[in-house]
Amino acid sequence: MKLPYIGILLLLVFGCCWITSDAAPKSQRASSSCGYASCTPSKPGVINVHVVPHTHDDVGWLKTVDQYYYGSKTGYQRAGVQYIIDSVIKELVKDPARRFIYVEMAFFSQWWQEQTEEKKAVVKQLVEEGRLEFINGGWCMNDEAGTHYNDIIDQMTWGMRFLNDTFGECGRPRIGWQIDPFGHSREQASIFASMGFDGVFFGRIDWVDRSQRKANKEMEMIWHTSNSPGEQSSIFTGIFYEHYSAPDGFCFDVVCRDEPFIDNPKSADYNVVKKVNDLVAHIKAKALSYATRNIMLTMGDDFNYMSADMNFKNMDKMIRYTNELGNGVNLFYSTPSCYVKAINDEAGSRPWPTKTDDFFPYSNDPHAYWTGYFTSRPAYKGTVRKANTFLQAQHHDAVAGTEKEHVSQDYRLRLHDSVVDCQQDVSNSFSKMLPIGSQPLPQQEFCLHLNVSQCAITESSSRFTVTAYNPRSHEVTTYVRLPVTNGFYTVLDPDGSEMIIQLVPLVALQSIDAERPKSTATHELLFQAAKIPPLGHKTFYIIKTSTGRGQHSAIREKQQSTTVRRAKTGEKIAISNGKLLVNFDANGLIESIVVDGETVMMSQNLMWYAAMNEGNSNSIFDDRPSGAYIFRPNGTDATPIAMQATLIVQTGALVSEVHQKFSDWARQVVRVYKGQSDVEIEWTVGPIPVGDGIGKEIVSRVTTQIPSGGRFYTDSNGRQTLLRRRNFRPTWTLNVSEPVAGNYYPINSHIYVTDDEGNADTVVALVNDRSQGGTSLQDGQIELMVHRRLLYDDHFGVGEPLNEPGDGPGLVVRGTHYLLVNPSLAGIHPISLIRPLAQQMFMRPWLSFSSTSLSFTNWKNNFNMQKSGLRAPLPDNVHMLTLEPWRDGTHLLRLEHVYDIGEHSTLSEPVTLILDDLLADYTITSAVETTLGGNQWASEVSRLPWTTADDHQQPLKVSTKFQPVGKTSVTLLPMEIRTFIIQMTPND
Ligand SMILES: [Zn+2]
Repeated sequence: MKLPYIGILLLLVFGCCWITSDAAPKSQRASSSCGYASCTPSKPGVINVHVVPHTHDDVGWLKTVDQYYYGSKTGYQRAGVQYIIDSVIKELVKDPARRFIYVEMAFFSQWWQEQTEEKKAVVKQLVEEGRLEFINGGWCMNDEAGTHYNDIIDQMTWGMRFLNDTFGECGRPRIGWQIDPFGHSREQASIFASMGFDGVFFGRIDWVDRSQRKANKEMEMIWHTSNSPGEQSSIFTGIFYEHYSAPDGFCFDVVCRDEPFIDNPKSADYNVVKKVNDLVAHIKAKALSYATRNIMLTMGDDFNYMSADMNFKNMDKMIRYTNELGNGVNLFYSTPSCYVKAINDEAGSRPWPTKTDDFFPYSNDPHAYWTGYFTSRPAYKGTVRKANTFLQAQHHDAVAGTEKEHVSQDYRLRLHDSVVDCQQDVSNSFSKMLPIGSQPLPQQEFCLHLNVSQCAITESSSRFTVTAYNPRSHEVTTYVRLPVTNGFYTVLDPDGSEMIIQLVPLVALQSIDAERPKSTATHELLFQAAKIPPLGHKTFYIIKTSTGRGQHSAIREKQQSTTVRRAKTGEKIAISNGKLLVNFDANGLIESIVVDGETVMMSQNLMWYAAMNEGNSNSIFDDRPSGAYIFRPNGTDATPIAMQATLIVQTGALVSEVHQKFSDWARQVVRVYKGQSDVEIEWTVGPIPVGDGIGKEIVSRVTTQIPSGGRFYTDSNGRQTLLRRRNFRPTWTLNVSEPVAGNYYPINSHIYVTDDEGNADTVVALVNDRSQGGTSLQDGQIELMVHRRLLYDDHFGVGEPLNEPGDGPGLVVRGTHYLLVNPSLAGIHPISLIRPLAQQMFMRPWLSFSSTSLSFTNWKNNFNMQKSGLRAPLPDNVHMLTLEPWRDGTHLLRLEHVYDIGEHSTLSEPVTLILDDLLADYTITSAVETTLGGNQWASEVSRLPWTTADDHQQPLKVSTKFQPVGKTSVTLLPMEIRTFIIQMTPND
């Protein structure tokens, strides 16, 4: 989880956000009959066909999670997960040859809790014999575009922890199974490798890439998923021939219409020979595209196996008759892990092809680029990022925004309830940790509507506290803005020193009263919360004085006013913070930014693409509207929402800002805070007007003169940075059929352009606060899509246009971009400037509030006002990713190196920490390293070995062992995450 904190707080924060489980002893015992030992051996001289029965159970899509589990609302979809697991278990018991894999622990763990001890014993035996195998094993099959690596690790860990607690070693997944997500990231594959997985499979890659791979027998490869730490991060990767469903004619499910095997020769409908011939033809065609004599036959689809007897009875016959009739194929029940073991055995030391980039963007025909979902449901994506503690939100039809509206509402409700629960637990935790005197700590509240300048405590209290909790491993300085009513304020830091504050009026252009009906705030109280301790908190004490005229002059010295004025038509405005100067042109748009005396000419504007509507062509491929999944503009470039903006300018000692109004539905605030080297752009968009019958997709576009040579850089799940080239794919030939949508990539953290050749001198970057789509369509240009409202369904199953109602007239969304410009890099890698900013955006301090009647002195005497959980800040290239309660009094600790090779002259070097010295109030007395998922000791990892031919045709061996930690010191290589189960004892 995101907010490690030492002591009780930690237990309670995580206790509320994670579903509690019995801390059963972790079993590390190996079973002789599960895992690879349970695999049916292949036969030499024939095509070995691994029949893999599976079901794909979305954790919400057309129905909510509960509707899917219980099988209600059949009008939306006939699907009930409880029946699937019930009936599969019954069928597995009947025949030891049968196999089944299960993937989504959100569902399986719920089913498990409802079973009798007898049934549980039966299932345990099936697992121990390898007849029921868990694959992937996360809480859900997470999306790979809109997810942050932190969330992926958490949701995988949580599911695998359930498996480990419940089934021990035999429940440990060995294979990634991302069969449905709409494109595949390098970071996801890197995470799987670090979890000790032996392979990953998926169904969706670009249709041209797939056809070229089929022709070249390159459907399977070794994916090098990281620049370091080398081959340990490589993983076998398999791509399905078509989709994850059964071959045409062989879906024997209750929801299918294919013919069963009719094997009475006297029946007029006898079809065994025909069916076997059809199947063998399919297998032989498929075998032409794969490198070994082993083939996987996926037998299942979405929510299949509700009546598993139908499936297994027919698969039994399919296997028996096909084998009896010969034809050079050998069918048997198998699992993906057994398939991987078989091809590993068969290939021996023969080298596999390799891959180093990723599988974005995905398109399944010339006009169906699945790049719209990078931005779909932007408000929900923002909520997921802010409250990234509720794990189901990472599902590939949840955070993706591709679920039905009623399902999205259910997710939002669950997220909200989860955050409210966390708020209470944080308050309870603080109430145990902070008191040092006799007074109980007042209730702490979060103020969840600060983004629309609404908070009951700060608006109505004459004395209140704000406590900032910093989840980062380094000291953080940030600005705090609190909605207040007009008056005189004093802000005291923990030493009792008066802070410089600025009272910023809430001007009409930015904050529409309708957005915050319960608010009485007229201003925002702004101050700099400096040096919040790493993994710690700092409390500020605030007094409002509305009477006592004599005091006001003294207060005024610290309370800086804000000058507010409306710009005249054609007037050129500039705002500055001492480091940066932002110039606006006569139309009210950004014209240039001056940094350290150097001017970078640029423009920034909100623009819209007209969405392709339905009925645009008679061809099935061409008639593809923009929808929840698909981004398809109608062929023209984006149009500015307005060529001119109305401006209000507010300047003061701490912040200066320009409020731009482009239209009734598009506004921005451009801010420069004192001391900061980036420009904050807060955008508010919506309700997007669609009365003209045209769907619209809104982007924020920054244009500069930087000669970027068609190159731009994007993050991979907020971690690695990948080079993108316009109209180009690194490993196959792209025929540009959608020049805009085909160049869109998922952005979870940053996108930038820099000079293309030699020493990069200038960089322009955008850092975002939620996942969005982004691109660079011209040299020197970057854009991020912020909102979309569409009028047609895109025919990929959701069955609704993406037309979010918001409060009725259409959704209004507000978000933030940091714009970073640096014209004098002088050898510095741009990413070394962007990473700290991205971390600041992702891990902003959590604020909690309370009213109080105590004086400052009384408060200080009763409560600890600042404290760090760390003995000292960690080195600048190290972040404590996780510290959470594990089992039997132990804790799970993850440390990560946050720089990649070559990104910084010193910070990209390996770094060594002494674990004993890490925590302020505890001494770590033992640490044993595990895989990234925390479900296997590093010393016990044994991955399958693979041989590759890299660019230089040097055979490489994929490493099969992790190197366990020394006694107390831990060395982190660039971009490495190391995971430990630790014991710690409190210091005196
Ligand atoms: Zn799915």
